[in-house]
Amino acid sequence: MKKQGLLLIISGPSGSGKGTIVEQLKAKDDFSLSISATTRSPREYEEDGVHYFFRTREEFERMIENQELLEWAEFCGNCYGTPRTYVTDQMQKGQNVILEIEVQGALQVKKLYPDGVLIFLVPPNLEELGRRLTKRGTEDKETINRRIHRALEEMEFVPQYDYVVVNDTIEQATEDILTIVRAESMKCSRN
Ligand code: 5GP
Repeated sequence: MKKQGLLLIISGPSGSGKGTIVEQLKAKDDFSLSISATTRSPREYEEDGVHYFFRTREEFERMIENQELLEWAEFCGNCYGTPRTYVTDQMQKGQNVILEIEVQGALQVKKLYPDGVLIFLVPPNLEELGRRLTKRGTEDKETINRRIHRALEEMEFVPQYDYVVVNDTIEQATEDILTIVRAESMKCSRN
């Protein structure tokens, strides 16, 4: 029988480096990244269908009604959700899947897929988080402050995660996550 793929759910505050690490993971191992739907406006470099499926609130609500989303949540005034079919199809094919989602969604997914591996990525400290968000330059000051505030709230969910990885350097954090993936794939309960 073909083994079901591993579902890796990565959360962490904005500016924790999730996006960069996910790119590294995709380059180093065989992962499919689920593309989320969101009501947020695209950033300058973002493309529909590549970074997100950018949807109006009405379209997003229709996706919820039609049960097209595996999970969804509101984050700093916008909705974000994981399209269901992509994840279930990939996992049935035995493909490892990564979801890069915030805490409320991550916990919803863990209920549906108890074998899913929850990883919380943290920056070395809060000052570094603020510095990274400011340097990124994709948000205005008010949004940055909201996201830092939300980061503090999200930290309270850490005990519900399976692993915490500190993103001191991208290389080390990527390696740490790959170590977790290797160990999880060898679990007796998975074979
Ligand atoms: P951003 O606006 O910075 O792209 O994302 C804001 C937050 O939404 C991040 O924490 C990101 O991980 C999360 N996010 C992205 N896609 C999804 C999703 O499909 N579901 C949930 N629950 N959160 C998501």
